[in-house]
Amino acid sequence: MNISANLKSIQKEVGAATIVAISKTKPKEDIEAAYAVGQRIFGENRAQELEEKAAVLPKDIQWHMVGNLQSNKVKYIAPFVDLIHSVDKLSLLKEINKRARQNNRVIDVLLQMYIADEESKSGLNEEDLKALLESKAYHSFENIRVVGMMGMATLTDNKAQIKKEFSHLKDIFDNTKASYFSEDSNFSILSMGMSGDYKIALDCGSNMIRVGSAIFGSRDYA
Ligand SMILES: *Cc1c(COP(=O)(O)O)cnc(C)c1O
Repeated sequence: MNISANLKSIQKEVGAATIVAISKTKPKEDIEAAYAVGQRIFGENRAQELEEKAAVLPKDIQWHMVGNLQSNKVKYIAPFVDLIHSVDKLSLLKEINKRARQNNRVIDVLLQMYIADEESKSGLNEEDLKALLESKAYHSFENIRVVGMMGMATLTDNKAQIKKEFSHLKDIFDNTKASYFSEDSNFSILSMGMSGDYKIALDCGSNMIRVGSAIFGSRDYA
């Protein structure tokens, strides 16, 4: 795999969108190769793997958590994580708020929306979203900041379907911004698009893509 060449060609395609290099399962050396050509934002989907890599890699890397996060794992990443993409319930947000407070910081999060036609994908539906944003508990959290949304399209070759799902998420994002965050310029990130579908996602208004295998090569597992 020529990691630096892969990364450079993706950088050319995406314009102003932020690339999160998804390094899950990949060794430290692969992350260093991307770092050497200027990549500073890396994403992982397991809290302990993220913590272990952060400990041995340069301190100016911004680490993003992108995968399904169990509440009992939040403590491993709370001291340093830059953005959590995968908040899909109030109880998780509560735990992130608690651990952020213990570390004397505010943690930025994205709300993960369920937009796919696939049982395996997680996320909030629009009803859950409304309930969360209108809950008393949410408004009491002082150590989290909701800065946008994330979603994953169905794993399919049907581009029209992917486009429909991403466009739906863009609509939810715009409506949520207008209804709940109109005074809050921090609510600005729409994280959608992976190796197989980031071009469609960018066409649909994504400003943050999460790209793993197109940079680092295919994974043996996870
Ligand atoms: C693994 C993963 C990615 C990257 O997937 P690729 O298809 O390798 O680009 C993006 N987002 C999440 C949530 C992931 O778990």
